[in-house]
Amino acid sequence: MGACRWRPHACKVPGISQHIVIAGGGFGGYYTARSLERLAPAGARITLINDVNFLLYAPLLPGAAAGTLDPRHIVVPLREHLRRTALRVGYVIGGEHERGLLRVQMISGQLKEYRYDHLVVALGSVSRVLPVPGLAEHAIGLKTIADATALRNRIVRHLELAEGLDDKRARAEYLTFVFIGGGYAGLEGIAELQGFAHDAVKRYPRCRETGTRFVLVDAAARVMGEIQPQLADWAVELLAGRGIDFRLQTTVSEVHGDAVVLSSGELIPARTVVWTAGVRASPVAEQLGLPLTDGRITCDEYLRVVGHDNVWALGDIAAVPDPARPGRPCPPTAQHAIRQGKLLARNLVRVIRGEQPHPFTFKTLGAFADLGRHRAVANVTGVRVKGFTAWVIGRCYHLAWLPGLDRKSRLIADWAVELLFPRDLAELGVLASPPRLAPGTVQPMDSGRPQDSGQVAGAPPVADGDPSGHGG
Ligand SMILES: Cc1cc2nc3c(=O)[nH]c(=O)nc-3n(C[C@H](O)[C@H](O)[C@H](O)COP(=O)(O)OP(=O)(O)OC[C@H]3O[C@@H](n4cnc5c(N)ncnc54)[C@H](O)[C@@H]3O)c2cc1C
Repeated sequence: MGACRWRPHACKVPGISQHIVIAGGGFGGYYTARSLERLAPAGARITLINDVNFLLYAPLLPGAAAGTLDPRHIVVPLREHLRRTALRVGYVIGGEHERGLLRVQMISGQLKEYRYDHLVVALGSVSRVLPVPGLAEHAIGLKTIADATALRNRIVRHLELAEGLDDKRARAEYLTFVFIGGGYAGLEGIAELQGFAHDAVKRYPRCRETGTRFVLVDAAARVMGEIQPQLADWAVELLAGRGIDFRLQTTVSEVHGDAVVLSSGELIPARTVVWTAGVRASPVAEQLGLPLTDGRITCDEYLRVVGHDNVWALGDIAAVPDPARPGRPCPPTAQHAIRQGKLLARNLVRVIRGEQPHPFTFKTLGAFADLGRHRAVANVTGVRVKGFTAWVIGRCYHLAWLPGLDRKSRLIADWAVELLFPRDLAELGVLASPPRLAPGTVQPMDSGRPQDSGQVAGAPPVADGDPSGHGG
């Protein structure tokens, strides 16, 4: 046993043939699996269940939404990095913990039950949508790779649509983008997308004449509560200087397909609304039959679910006591999920061996927000950094944490291309929906195109007599 402690991968302890099932392969689940591969006794089996076969590096989503990064370069294929873990692609739908069972709907549609000795829940979070009329129907999030790709395609499509419209007022609707929520995701998102639109519009003469408009709405008196007020003020000043409108201490009352109504009564004609006003634990938490605190799974400081010896939880879905803020749960950040994943694996192995687990003691190192165009703000262990230096720190941080040398190389290549060449304006929204094969018929060019609010439906009739598109 003593030898196993120091060379755990060589451990051959009889009876340690445990099955560890990890639900969720994002930051928390992936780092748990990676660490378990090194630490778990040789007889232990590790199964990871995720609804896709990759880890999404969410902090780089704004870059993908702005077309700076190829969406495939901000995801990490799980099979390439997990050698000892069996990956199963399916959707977790429930569990029966007295019997040690996890229920999963496989991508084939088949329902399967996974029997576990230890269960790790790392299913993350979803956008926290408030009951604002029209919000769920018309707004788009910035939480998934599909959101980022759809946003980029939406902007290009709206530029194309607006360029073909004679009515200036209708054109303005397509060229106005309202972001709701001024956390780091909202600020990074609006900064990146405004930069993209600013560059792209140069190639659309009629749109350039109308101009693009970006508005950020937040209920709080200041943006980015995670960062010092001086840095938040500096960020607002910088972005306002680029033409972004801020509506603080304001909420959204209604969202329509072609306008947003604010609590101040102001109506902003806009056909794109991006919802970045926070996250909540995945609703699957409620189906798992585990104790919850404000929707998150209640854990102790060892990352074990309260009242369950062999069920663990971490990341955005878990309410783990925050060592930095007694009485409150850890904030939903990748920084925490990664550290929790590493500790959880060590604790789980300690418990299997009959040893005492260790408490979670990590305190936030800081936060930063990339404001585009080589500017950022950063709070590094309490030290305020802004401008180009903060931007360099942010890029180095992502390079360090994005798993895999191949992914890091692709990231560097994307960033280098961004510096050297103009923005790519091809809109490939049709990629996910190829036209149906129909013998003997000719398919219209855009058949199969997914419907989005970029459809001209609802726009005034267009009478464009100028085939060059340069009139108006
Ligand atoms: C735009 C944006 C920017 C961000 N920037 C930062 C930043 O700069 N710094 C920072 O620290 N954090 C940042 N975050 C937060 C960070 O991404 C999350 O805190 C982190 O991803 C949480 O890790 P997790 O493992 O709990 O969840 P996730 O990483 O979301 O992983 C959950 C996994 O579970 C899968 N899943 C969900 N439901 C099911 C199901 N029912 N069945 C099977 N699989 C399922 C998901 O597909 C996913 O793979 C950002 C988030 C966003 C959206």
